[in-house]
Amino acid sequence: MWYLFLNGKEGMDTMGKTTISRRALVTVFGGSALINGAVLRAEAKEKMIRNQGLETASGVAPDYDAIIVGGSYAGLSAAIQLARARRRILVIDAGKPRNRFARASHGFFGQDGQSPKEMIERARKQVLAYPTVRFEQAEATRATREGDGFRVTFGDNRVARARRLVLATGVKDDLPAIPGMKELWGTGVAHCPYCHGYEVAGRKIAILSGKELGVHQALLLRDWSDDVTLLINGAGELGSEDSERLQARRVKIETVPVSRLIANGSELEAVEFADGKRLPFGAMFIATRYSLASPLAEQLGCEIEQGAFGPTVKTDDFKKSSVPGVYVAGDAGRAMHSATLASADGVLAGVGAHQSLIFAK
Ligand SMILES: Cc1cc2nc3c(=O)[nH]c(=O)nc-3n(C[C@H](O)[C@H](O)[C@H](O)COP(=O)(O)OP(=O)(O)OC[C@H]3O[C@@H](n4cnc5c(N)ncnc54)[C@H](O)[C@@H]3O)c2cc1C
Repeated sequence: MWYLFLNGKEGMDTMGKTTISRRALVTVFGGSALINGAVLRAEAKEKMIRNQGLETASGVAPDYDAIIVGGSYAGLSAAIQLARARRRILVIDAGKPRNRFARASHGFFGQDGQSPKEMIERARKQVLAYPTVRFEQAEATRATREGDGFRVTFGDNRVARARRLVLATGVKDDLPAIPGMKELWGTGVAHCPYCHGYEVAGRKIAILSGKELGVHQALLLRDWSDDVTLLINGAGELGSEDSERLQARRVKIETVPVSRLIANGSELEAVEFADGKRLPFGAMFIATRYSLASPLAEQLGCEIEQGAFGPTVKTDDFKKSSVPGVYVAGDAGRAMHSATLASADGVLAGVGAHQSLIFAK
């Protein structure tokens, strides 16, 4: 039997965890700590991992092997790969996933129809079960290169450092400025027929997505309803080819500008037009323009491409950005968006970031 004194510091350590605030008498039997057993075993494991040659060239050990900003589909999928590789990681998440307005998420393998909140909470719990993972509910406001790694500043000015960064910060939708739109977003108004079409199938459906995408969406949505109307919203005449295609699929066209959406609870009831006319609808699909939800990729100098509906951080097959050591996963790093694709990107980014710690950058 051994007796060992630990000198603890008061306050938060570099892992963001409360340290032992008094001298603690630790009884060790055969290497297994009995006081605060789980914590101490985890700390011993972390120390072991920290000691596996993880110092930077400058000799200053970063706090983490990787910091993952964003703890939703992409971020937690990256995190679990790194956690299972026993790397020390920090996940920082501001708790605003893009689909938080929807009651249910659809099409995700094995979790069709689950609440987005519960899916993310379950995934977070599973990731946090790994002893080398730390989680901060916070916003990362700044990311800069520091030596071989990166320095991330939190909203409250705390700082964490890591050798790799995974940005899984998503995008935010810029909704059309039509009264009633914001209140119905994610319930009576959606943007993805594959995510939410099935639930409103057979209802009267309105499409409000501009001319070009509107035609595309209207033709598509006929597979979900026999009663589809394309709202041109005062954007001028359609070309003859588009008109013929819409006619062939029996899509109605409404040219008068939309003045407001009328709700019945969280569902769409009707659309009111500038000429005072009201048409009843049971659901609306729109195309949103979007922007990056966080400025971190721009701050770091990552190359960004402008797409038809918003910006995308350019990445390679392993979700590595143009800045060495920075990986971008999920909606922020791809033009086609879904929870499944974001999660798959997270896996690639997690594996990519991990392997870059061992092999070339
Ligand atoms: C209304 C709606 C319904 C949808 N329904 C479906 C569906 O049914 N099925 C489907 O497959 N897809 C659906 N989607 C698409 C899906 O939501 C996205 O593809 C998916 O959320 C992208 O995952 P992500 O991890 O890249 O980003 P997000 O899920 O948006 O998560 C990004 C996370 O990063 C955090 N974050 C951002 N910046 C910072 C920062 N600086 N510091 C700390 N944290 C930060 C955010 O708070 C957030 O928690 C829907 C989208 C919308 C808008």
